[in-house]
Amino acid sequence: MKRRVFSGARPTGRQHLGNFLGAIQNYVNLQDEYDCVYCIVDVHALTSLEDTGGLQKNINEMVLDWLAAGLDPRKSILFVQSHIPEVMELHTLLSMITPLGWLLRVPTFKEKARLQPENINYGLVGYPVLMTADIVLYKGEFIPVGEDQLPHIELAREIARRFNNLFGYTFPEPEAKLTLFPLILGLDGKEKMSKQVGNDIDISLSDKETTERVMTAVTDPARRYRNDPGHPEICNIYRLQQYFNPFGLDNIGEQCRTAKIGCVDCKMLLAQEINSTLKPFRERRAALAEKPGYLVDVLADGAQRARAIAKETLKEVKQKMGLL
Ligand code: SF4
Repeated sequence: MKRRVFSGARPTGRQHLGNFLGAIQNYVNLQDEYDCVYCIVDVHALTSLEDTGGLQKNINEMVLDWLAAGLDPRKSILFVQSHIPEVMELHTLLSMITPLGWLLRVPTFKEKARLQPENINYGLVGYPVLMTADIVLYKGEFIPVGEDQLPHIELAREIARRFNNLFGYTFPEPEAKLTLFPLILGLDGKEKMSKQVGNDIDISLSDKETTERVMTAVTDPARRYRNDPGHPEICNIYRLQQYFNPFGLDNIGEQCRTAKIGCVDCKMLLAQEINSTLKPFRERRAALAEKPGYLVDVLADGAQRARAIAKETLKEVKQKMGLL
């Protein structure tokens, strides 16, 4: 029997290169070896989203990107978190066994509280409990994450362990499965690529739009004139070249150090490689966008399959806690 992978992603709409390299490609690669459960965690988005008007559009755009990138609904379960009410119930039950101190020390809570001091809501504190409920409801064993998510996984393990100690073995302790490319920096070369920061390149952009975005990227700040030798090791364009142009990397590095290539040409090269890598994805996406009914069917089928697992787990949990 295949072991289970679970992953949840917030509905951020059209996916960017960071999502593609750091998460989606990994999701696709895991499908054959594992029993994969992939969830769009729309309730999590409410902890910081003031305007929920774009939520459904964001979910649809994201699922389109996932499917076009190769997620196969015949192999994996793709669904939306709020379509499974059992997760809310499990969240409440797990919150009864989770000490508040564990939640208040989570680094991302402190960071979120700093970023939105006017909206430090209860859901923000309980975010890791809901995340644990997401994982253990489907008895997820491996969680593909970037390094920044490790404290959440550790907390999920602690909550699962505590439940097992109190009520008998029920949940596998989820293990982080670090992605191959854990951190993709944005066009500013400083922060993780993110829509919120505005330093991203959406994978569904046209060739022209992609090229324009690449041209805005910060490169080696010491290279002020075309004849200045560059330092590729500190340049984010060079880092991106390693994903999209791995065979040309040594050559570009050498040409940069000896000022034989300028940053504009180097960026053009990168944009061409990104566009040629994403060409099949973009064609599939355009075809899928013509069939909105298919998207609805995929999510309905995913919810049905996810709910069957969720109901079983919740029944077991309630029995063990003395509620049934
Ligand atoms: Fe970066 Fe390329 Fe410019 Fe060198 S030539 S600094 S690698 S963009």
